[in-house]
Amino acid sequence: MPLVPMRQILEEATKGGYGVGAFNVNNMEQIQAIMEAANETNSPVIIQASRGALQYSRMIYLKKLIEAAVEEYPHIPVAMHLDHGDSLETCMKAIDLGFTSVMIDGSLKDVEVEKDGKKKKEQVPREFEENVEITRKVVEVAHKYGVTVEGEVGCLGGIEDGHGIEDKEGKSLLTEKDLEEERKYSPFLTDPEEAERFVKETGVDALAVAIGTSHGAFKSNRKHPVTKEVLPPIIAVSRVKKIHERIPEVPLVMHGSSSVPQELVDIINECGGELKDTAGVPIEKIQEAIKYGVRKINVDTDSRLAMTGAIRKYLKENPSKFDPRDYLKPAREAMKKVYVERMIAFGQAGHAGDYKPLTLDDMKCLYSKMGK
Ligand SMILES: [Zn+2]
Repeated sequence: MPLVPMRQILEEATKGGYGVGAFNVNNMEQIQAIMEAANETNSPVIIQASRGALQYSRMIYLKKLIEAAVEEYPHIPVAMHLDHGDSLETCMKAIDLGFTSVMIDGSLKDVEVEKDGKKKKEQVPREFEENVEITRKVVEVAHKYGVTVEGEVGCLGGIEDGHGIEDKEGKSLLTEKDLEEERKYSPFLTDPEEAERFVKETGVDALAVAIGTSHGAFKSNRKHPVTKEVLPPIIAVSRVKKIHERIPEVPLVMHGSSSVPQELVDIINECGGELKDTAGVPIEKIQEAIKYGVRKINVDTDSRLAMTGAIRKYLKENPSKFDPRDYLKPAREAMKKVYVERMIAFGQAGHAGDYKPLTLDDMKCLYSKMGK
């Protein structure tokens, strides 16, 4: 089976009312673990690479590895997606490489700021109109190739932009009560009206929304007042619902949706790691969001934790071993376990054979018929 346009995978997920995990990859073991999990659970899947991943793997290696995966498991629909493309040029590079989907993240821009006498690059939110313009251009070009486009409106919290939902002291601004008056936090979350305008004006196939998630392993500064235990970030599911009501036909995307399981953090820390207390996005919150139109769920950190934990554990227990296969094999197994769990939890399990996959050429024709 050739690689499938992501739009089809998401449309089918909409029909079936389930979500699809989009897992980030950098190397062979991650790709193999994803495919073994997809095969075992009979799941369609989205494999995504960030600009950093493409740089690390020197572009061509990831493409060839994903091609190998598709060849090994011809019955599994796989979309190859560029995560956080920053320009038309980057998206074009991915399209040339054979990606069936690209994200253009026009929600942020780089600015130069001076800090302690040194010039530094910082990312700040980009004006809405500018985001529309950049995204629309990518849509125009990508659809000519049958390639799916994901855009983003709003600002994800955390390391992506420094505009998290925390105040200057690092305390979370969102409490359960605050959610009732979440208008207060509109600058940080995706505005439903803007989301609707953005989709109409750009023609994107999928929309990433800011609803309280953030990238990385440390997603929350909320602490239990008595136990001081780190509490999970608050996810504004009510906001997802409002966005979905306005654009029910558009698949929504949740970034930064690792659940950061405590047992994986514990393995790392018991085997010499020093990860501070943390909490991720609870699976139940993701499942709730899936009910309101979230179709693509980005997960990266969880597989990183699983891989690192397994390697640390193996090397701690077998200090005289030095063959990378000895520790990469349990690492691959540990990642596969995470992927299997997510595929079942998101609901994509069992759906690999539901439909006949389209090619990019089919999609090209469909776009021209839709006038896109
Ligand atoms: Zn992201």
